[in-house]
Amino acid sequence: IEIQAPKKAATAATSTRLVGADAVIELKNVTKAFGQKTVLDDISLDVMSGEVVSVIGPSGSGKTTLIRTINALQDIDSGSIRFHGDDWIDTERGYRLVQSFHQDVVHLGMVFQSFNLFPHKTVLENIVMAPSYHGMGSTAELEQKALDTLAKVGMSVHARKYPHQLSGGQKQRVAIARALAMEPKVMLFDEPTSALDPELVGEVLQAIELLASEGMTMVIVTHEMRFATRISDRIVMMEDGQMVAKVTKEELFAAAPDSRIKKFMEQSE
Ligand code: ADP
Repeated sequence: IEIQAPKKAATAATSTRLVGADAVIELKNVTKAFGQKTVLDDISLDVMSGEVVSVIGPSGSGKTTLIRTINALQDIDSGSIRFHGDDWIDTERGYRLVQSFHQDVVHLGMVFQSFNLFPHKTVLENIVMAPSYHGMGSTAELEQKALDTLAKVGMSVHARKYPHQLSGGQKQRVAIARALAMEPKVMLFDEPTSALDPELVGEVLQAIELLASEGMTMVIVTHEMRFATRISDRIVMMEDGQMVAKVTKEELFAAAPDSRIKKFMEQSE
C-alpha cells in the first residue's frame, strides 16, 4: 500500500495520517538478557508503514534496549527482527545483515538522547557527511538538500555554526536533520528530549510532529506523555522487560481509568 500523507502544518496534521496495512518492522519473540537480568522478555511488535509508535514505561524497563535492537546497535539472544519481510536479525538462522540494507531495503534514521553530533564539524558538514560517503549526490546537491532539511527544522540560519555554538534543542534539531539526510523510511528516536532543558523540549517535539504529519514511520521512546498521546497511532508500554500494553490512541482514550497504561500516563504527567 502506498502511503501518501498530505503535507500539512504540524499542528493540524496527525489526525490526517494514514497507516498502511503492511508491516515495515516486525519483531518476533525478541529476548535479550544482560547477565541474569532479562531486559527484553519475548517482545513481539509490528510497526506498520506510516505508523507512529511511542514506547513508554518506567526507567529501566527496557525501552532503550528495545529501540537499539531495531537498529542492530544491540544484539539479541533469540527471536527475529525483519524489515519489509527481509531478515535483519534472525537468531534461529544465525545473524544476517541484509546487504542491501543501506541502499534500498529500509533506511533507519536514529536520533539519540545525547545528540551525538560530530563536534569538529559544522552543522552543514554533519548533515552532508553520511549521504556524501554513500554517494547520494554531488557536494552542491547534498548541501542544497541539507539546507532544505535544516529549513524544515528551523535551523538553516545556523548551517555554518559548530555544535558547541548551539543550544541543546538546536543540536537535537540538527541531529534530526542529519538522520533525514539519509532519506530514511523509518525514524527511531531514543528519548530525544530527555537531555534538554524544559524550555527547549517544545521545539524538538514540534520537529518530530512535522515528520509525523508527512507520513514518516516512527518509533519513539519518550517520557513526554501528552506528546505521545497526541502524535502516536499506537502506544506500547514496557514494564520489567515485557510489553504490558499495546493500544491504539482510540483504545487509550476509551481505557478504564484504572487500566495499567492510563494509570502510568497520568502518574507521569
Ligand atoms: P529504559 O530505556 O526503559 O530505561 P534500558 O533498556 O536502558 O531501560 O535498560 C533496561 C535494563 O537493562 C536496566 O536494568 C539496565 O541497567 C540494563 N542494561 C541496559 N544496557 C545494559 C548493558 N549494556 N549491560 C548491562 N545492563 C544493561
